[in-house]
Amino acid sequence: MTTETITHWAGGAPVRGTGERMSEVTNPATGQVTGHLTLASGSDAEHVIASAKAAAGPWRETSLARRTRIMFAFRELLNARRGELAAIISAEQGKVLSDAEGEIARGQEVVEFACGTSHLLKGGHSEGVSTGVDVHSKRDPLGVVGIISPFNFPAMVPMWFFPIAIAVGNTVVLKPSEKDPSAAVWLARLWKEAGLPDGVFNVLHGDKEAVDALLRSPDVEAISFVGSTPVAQYVYEEATRHGKRVQALGGAKNHMVVLPDADLDLAADAAVNAGYGSAGERCMAVSVLVAVGSAGDELVARIADRTRTLVVGDGGTPPAGEREADMGPLVTKAHRDRVASFIESGARAGAKIVVDGREVSARGAEDGFWLGPTLFDHVSTDMEIYREEIFGPVLSVVRAETYAEAVELVNANPYGNGTAVFTNDGGAARRFEADVNVGMIGVNIPVPVPVAYYSFGGWKRSLFGDTHAHGTEGVHFFTRGKVVTTRWTDPARRPEDGLALGFPVNV
Ligand code: NAD
Repeated sequence: MTTETITHWAGGAPVRGTGERMSEVTNPATGQVTGHLTLASGSDAEHVIASAKAAAGPWRETSLARRTRIMFAFRELLNARRGELAAIISAEQGKVLSDAEGEIARGQEVVEFACGTSHLLKGGHSEGVSTGVDVHSKRDPLGVVGIISPFNFPAMVPMWFFPIAIAVGNTVVLKPSEKDPSAAVWLARLWKEAGLPDGVFNVLHGDKEAVDALLRSPDVEAISFVGSTPVAQYVYEEATRHGKRVQALGGAKNHMVVLPDADLDLAADAAVNAGYGSAGERCMAVSVLVAVGSAGDELVARIADRTRTLVVGDGGTPPAGEREADMGPLVTKAHRDRVASFIESGARAGAKIVVDGREVSARGAEDGFWLGPTLFDHVSTDMEIYREEIFGPVLSVVRAETYAEAVELVNANPYGNGTAVFTNDGGAARRFEADVNVGMIGVNIPVPVPVAYYSFGGWKRSLFGDTHAHGTEGVHFFTRGKVVTTRWTDPARRPEDGLALGFPVNV
């Protein structure tokens, strides 16, 4: 089988780099190595950052009209060719094609938002704030910004950031996950086709060495990071120590609370879709279901029935005459084995295993990284499967006697990314929204990922820094404000200031 060598991208062209270290990219559905990735050395990172720096001046001076036209061209190309990108994502990440198309569509929403960012760059203007004095405000781009992204959304997560960063006049170095790096290079080629000047969008492949180079480079002004909590915290601390603006989004343990009056079929569908979609490898996956009061037994039965109908298999085009698999493999063998060890831990700790994903019969190659959907009931908060972010197709049901107990569980959790409540009681939902310390909340919606013109981000250990992704917070993150106070002398009334050393007062 032929394998591809995946290179960096800088100055509008592929760059082989000087790094000696390589890593393998595998197709999780077959276990086969499909590509080799050159991991950046420090000097590779310097080269890629330098190409972004060289492009930064001309790009910020490019008119808003031209920048906006390029954004529109990129949007059109992405929309027309999303099938190609979905196939690349599925072949390296493992998710099914419709799921990959979904992540592209959500990323495309941010591109569409970015097509209109010139509106958000408009400053304010106040005339006559003091006699003969006017004030206006403006937002300037930062320069070179670094984006470091996780394996689970190789297209959408980078697109939470780079469309806005570019539209407002910055240049970008994207460091994608080394597990599924090809989507980033495909996006770089698409930018070139859309007419983006060389050097505005660059890709640096690698691991910690590449990340550290970005965090420490004096030429990088800001870092947008998404990944696991320990790395998010490290990135935040290291980059802020080097004077950068940082938003670092971390892990999650999202609780879905089902109140006794909820529509149980709707809740069961939601739990299955949000628990096992993308094989649970989503930061907005539901990993804990809190069944309140009498809801528990019936809900678990309905989730189990649905779970047993799911097809696990190769995420790519299904065999002739068969429907697409519901769930693909996990991203790597190591990750598959780690998730399986959590299932063992849950069983050992005494949780009731209702559906066991280790017994999966998958539609795909023998060496794929398969694990089926797993459902645990009667999970308690001291168990490892409750405490840790598993990031796989494992749903834990916790029973709570009351609404207050359920909210306490949500709020006691160290993460605060997403949560949902299922109920037909508007008052209870309204109260839930106020009571929980979580950044994104769904009411009868299990995966409440905000639309692009709102901002995405969690609380507590799900976010380091204070700015969420995209929407107006994204525009603020990638720009810096200036306020200009102006006085032009009026030919008819020339001011006579004289000498006045006291602090200037507006008159
Ligand atoms: P990860 O933390 O292992 O890797 C993320 C990025 O950091 C990758 O580009 C990787 O190369 C780099 N990296 C890894 N270890 C590093 C180190 N020691 N030093 C410097 N850089 C390092 O995360 P992952 O496994 O790729 O992704 C899964 C995690 O991401 C989960 O915890 C998930 O919850 C989280 N995630 C969060 C969000 C969110 O919006 N909060 C979204 C998607 C994923």
